[in-house]
Amino acid sequence: MFYAQILTLFPEFFDSPLSCSIPKRAIEAGIVSVDAIQIRDFATDKHHKVDDSPYGGGPGMLMKPEPVVASIRAARDRHPDTHVVMLTPSGARFTQAKALEFTEKSGITLLCGRYEGFDERICDYVDEELSLGDYVLSGGEPAALCVLDAVIRLLPEVLGSPESAVLDSFTEEGILDWPHYTRPEMFEGKGVPEVLLSGNHAEIEKWRRAQAIKRSKKRV
Ligand code: SAM
Repeated sequence: MFYAQILTLFPEFFDSPLSCSIPKRAIEAGIVSVDAIQIRDFATDKHHKVDDSPYGGGPGMLMKPEPVVASIRAARDRHPDTHVVMLTPSGARFTQAKALEFTEKSGITLLCGRYEGFDERICDYVDEELSLGDYVLSGGEPAALCVLDAVIRLLPEVLGSPESAVLDSFTEEGILDWPHYTRPEMFEGKGVPEVLLSGNHAEIEKWRRAQAIKRSKKRV
């Protein structure tokens, strides 16, 4: 079973999204296990403090190294081979290829920041820093959820039709998915491309490939 450990100040963030659709089914089927671990539990002071003000001044607070590093160590104690990923806007961009790479591991640990981010020294305790994109979220939890969701749907046996994941956008050299159509054949004056109604599978294949390439060129 693939495992995911999430180090977070808000374990409850994951309750609802993991209790519906594909992630829910994958958890119920025993394909993946998800443990959201409260970083605050690793703070040893009386007030369970996890943040402090930045040296040198400036607005906001930072995640303190002691509880965060203690939570990483606890994650490694549970799974000594774990790959620890820090979610941060300064990280490398998360991609479909990276999601696929993660499925080849026995599991991952996702570290979520809050406030103005992490004390820089924490970076020395993780294996990789990943960003979801060039924008700033209020916390690492939505980013961790996206990573987890993208990985879960690629795990063997999760999708009803394994072909779906193979045909998804970005799977082949960054090429996007082709345009899809379903019933009705005419919607508010807009029809369906004739070739899709032709029953000619070779022609349909050719059209889809051409559309995917055209769309990829236009959007990149
Ligand atoms: N001061 C930080 C900066 O400008 O890079 C932003 C901190 S953000 C408000 C708080 C936390 O949200 C970060 O520590 C990180 O865990 C998460 N986060 C925000 N944007 C993200 C992104 N694009 N990708 C991944 N994680 C992100």
